[in-house]
Amino acid sequence: MSPTNLAQDPSMAVMPAVSSFRAADFDQTVMTTYDRFAIALERGQGCRVWDTEGRAYLDFVAGIATCTLGHAHPALVAAVTAQIQTLHHVSNFYYIPQQGELADWLTQHSCADRAFFCNSGAEANEGAIKLARKYAHTVLKIDQPIILTANSSFHGRTLATITATAQPKYQKHFDPLVPGFHYVPFNDLAALENAIATLDQDHRQVAAILLEPLQGEGGVRPGQVEYFQGVRQICDQKGILLILDEVQVGVGRTGKLWGHQHLGIEPDIFTLAKGLAGGIPIGALLSKEFCSVFQPGDHASTFGGNPFACAAALAVLNTLEAEQLLENAAQRGEQLRTGLREMASQFPHLIAEVRGWGLINGLVLKDEIDLTSLTVIKAAMNAGLLLVPAGPKVVRFVPPLIVSEAEIEQALQVVGQIIADL
Ligand SMILES: *Cc1c(COP(=O)(O)O)cnc(C)c1O
Repeated sequence: MSPTNLAQDPSMAVMPAVSSFRAADFDQTVMTTYDRFAIALERGQGCRVWDTEGRAYLDFVAGIATCTLGHAHPALVAAVTAQIQTLHHVSNFYYIPQQGELADWLTQHSCADRAFFCNSGAEANEGAIKLARKYAHTVLKIDQPIILTANSSFHGRTLATITATAQPKYQKHFDPLVPGFHYVPFNDLAALENAIATLDQDHRQVAAILLEPLQGEGGVRPGQVEYFQGVRQICDQKGILLILDEVQVGVGRTGKLWGHQHLGIEPDIFTLAKGLAGGIPIGALLSKEFCSVFQPGDHASTFGGNPFACAAALAVLNTLEAEQLLENAAQRGEQLRTGLREMASQFPHLIAEVRGWGLINGLVLKDEIDLTSLTVIKAAMNAGLLLVPAGPKVVRFVPPLIVSEAEIEQALQVVGQIIADL
């Protein structure tokens, strides 16, 4: 076991700088879409990454809940190396055996019967929106189908998915948005029932409800069991499709394979991306057989489901089972929340709440004080721990699912010190 104090851990020692990277040059030519931290990362191993100055960090961002197996995991390295040496990309005009194998795994381990593969979360959600609309037009016979989504949600950055994302900050200056969406408060069943009834009176029929089982970007807000069971019931009664966006919480992140297993319900359609191939770009749209309305030509993706990405995903899923990473995610998550909750009870004037499932957790700062998540995150970075915000008041912890007990302890020490020093 490595030392529990990050500062004294020899694996965190500064290494010689290896590259001549210059941030000023980068900023001349790359579009200014990100507010970047002033470090450049160039190497990783397990839950550690190193910057171009040779400084080590404990990585509790994992490419935003994406590097399921951490960095340079031998199973992922072996799978992608073998695949790129054999055949890395062919058109979907041909059968791709790895794609079929991945679809088999996903359908055998979930309520879904069919899969479509693409390259990102937004693209998977676009596919879900198209599938729901075609189902609405051809099966439900709805002319102008409405899709309900929740306030503080996040579904991606394409035009349809920023419209689905019920947060004005993502939509500003990008109008006209895509028609056919309507927003409701999250975890509020009465508001949902009212919205459906009001829209009905207006002759605007709801075809689908799109929700995250736990809202990630919107502040690490877990869905409530009673709410989701109520939503499922309403969908069943009214023939509305239930679509779950599992892009951030799917593939073991929450300590269960799928986020909806925490809610005791099955979706009709769900989407995956971030963690599925451990950092190799992939997205997946999964659905039950009764939703199979796509015909040849309806939807496509040039890169989607190529042998390289599918081999990576299969390596991630096999390793998830072989290394019992669901159990690890559940146990390490419990350890992290217990530690953070001790901090919350010690510093009640700073910390409002600790919430999350498995290895997606949020430290929620008090609204009444000036302190923002970014202040805590910058201090943590200086101390050798990478964290990511989920809004201005929530510090998000999404380490690789391979994270060890000692590494959780180290992260807790760093955050505890920062909070104590405030
Ligand atoms: C990250 C995320 C997306 C968007 O995924 P991209 O791969 O960035 O397009 C969609 N939904 C949820 C819940 C996400 O967390």
